[in-house]
Amino acid sequence: MIKPGLKIGIALTLMLVLPTLFFSAYEMGNLSQNEMVVDSIYSSQLESILFSVNQYSDDVVSSWAYQLDNSKDGLEKEIRKISAKNYSIDAIAVVTSRKFRFFPKEKIPRDSLHLLQGTLERAFSDNHKMINNLQRYIKSGYQKIGVLETEMEGKSLFAFARKQASESGQTILFLLNTLKFVNENLGPKIQGVAQNRFYISVFESASNREIYANAIHEEEDKNIQHKKDIWLLPGYQMGIQMKGNTVEDLVHERTTTNFILLGVMNVVLLLGAWFVFRNIRQQIRLNQMKSEFISNVSHEIRTPLALINMYSETLEMGRVTSDEKRMEYYRIINTETNRLSSMVNKILNFGKIESGRREYHFQNSDLNSELDMVLQNYRQHLDRKGFALEFSPGNGLPIIAVDREALSEAVINLIDNAVKYSDQDRRIAISTGKENGFVFLQVTDYGIGIAPKDQALVFDKFYRVTKGDLAHKAKGSGIGLSIVKHIMEAHKGNIELRSRLGEGSCFGLYFPVNN
Ligand code: ADP
Repeated sequence: MIKPGLKIGIALTLMLVLPTLFFSAYEMGNLSQNEMVVDSIYSSQLESILFSVNQYSDDVVSSWAYQLDNSKDGLEKEIRKISAKNYSIDAIAVVTSRKFRFFPKEKIPRDSLHLLQGTLERAFSDNHKMINNLQRYIKSGYQKIGVLETEMEGKSLFAFARKQASESGQTILFLLNTLKFVNENLGPKIQGVAQNRFYISVFESASNREIYANAIHEEEDKNIQHKKDIWLLPGYQMGIQMKGNTVEDLVHERTTTNFILLGVMNVVLLLGAWFVFRNIRQQIRLNQMKSEFISNVSHEIRTPLALINMYSETLEMGRVTSDEKRMEYYRIINTETNRLSSMVNKILNFGKIESGRREYHFQNSDLNSELDMVLQNYRQHLDRKGFALEFSPGNGLPIIAVDREALSEAVINLIDNAVKYSDQDRRIAISTGKENGFVFLQVTDYGIGIAPKDQALVFDKFYRVTKGDLAHKAKGSGIGLSIVKHIMEAHKGNIELRSRLGEGSCFGLYFPVNN
């Protein structure tokens, strides 16, 4: 059969803990997914910003192509106009299969001019496949800007086929200074889209060197990771990053906080469930002990009642002839009555303690004289049971405030236990003394002792040790030591227990000395 405590534990786990743990696990899974979704939305936003810059640079070059296609004053004039307006343009060339016309922006020495022209012609013939394609496209009405590879450092070379001269297969080449092109054309566009919210920079891909930045970044938060190639400038990339806390940072921060909150919630829940489970288990244990207590008490009351009943009936019937016998019967009746009344008193006192009605009346007393009085009445009883009592009063004990009745009740409880839980060695030692502002009394026996695991529990109400022969047989209610503990608490004192299984126990009561 499953124990009730275990049942409650299982029910709690199934009803509360498991669903919450599942929910947390699900939420945690969702959180990282959400983070990924937000991350991808953010990434595509950054990409679209970079896309718009790329698109713009394409538009710039396309607009030059348009201008040259629609020149009213003739091609050459238009070339000079565009060249003069755009300081990034180093030279423009008009090329057909037969002719190569070259328009450098500034006058350059003959040698250099030849060199430059030669380079352009080489680039033209090296890229003839692309040029052919551009010519094919224009015939079907599509003007594409082609990017030519060039060995000139810091320069970019674009080509497009002229619409106006598609029959003659005319191609226009633009030789640009890359850095100037970036500053002149991309720069203003980047400033416009960045709007002080983003860092946008242009990098040389191979060296990762920054050749343009939209803002001077003394800020330490700049670490651009998000990069895209620039369509028109092979070997160059644009990078973007949000200023201040990036969305990635914010989302990550939130996710971490949520993770921590969920974790804390789970820990609190588990602790709560454990706490409830422990309380319920304690209550169940207490209830079990309570019912054992009732059956023990009934038994303890019934035995003396039966004896009293039997001996008084025998006496009443006049069947006892000898005086000696009669005296013995009276003594038994007396002893059992005393036992009964002490039992009932104990239960009544316990009831008062439980309902918080027990009152204490303290008066200044000498512990040794109080003990003398208790032992005077009790010695005979111990003698009859075959116990040797040794009392060693300490010298010069200070006066303490005690409730005399409660003190005697506590001592009698301890002596009764010493008697109940002693086997062959029937010695009881009582001593008194003073120590660190306390006056103490100790009751020592040489009986069965108490196992370490039970030592803290014997002071709990209804707790009884039932392992071991004598402990099992001994009659008791399990409230004696809890009453002693309560009495000591009322005196603001302590109770201490030293015991070894099979060797005996020593209970010490410590009373504070009044200053
Ligand atoms: P009980 O009526 O069972 O004696 P108590 O509250 O006085 O109840 O004691 C609680 C338990 O502590 C006892 O059941 C017993 O197992 C253990 N105990 C108390 N005093 C002694 C002692 N002197 N020696 C061994 N065990 C003891």
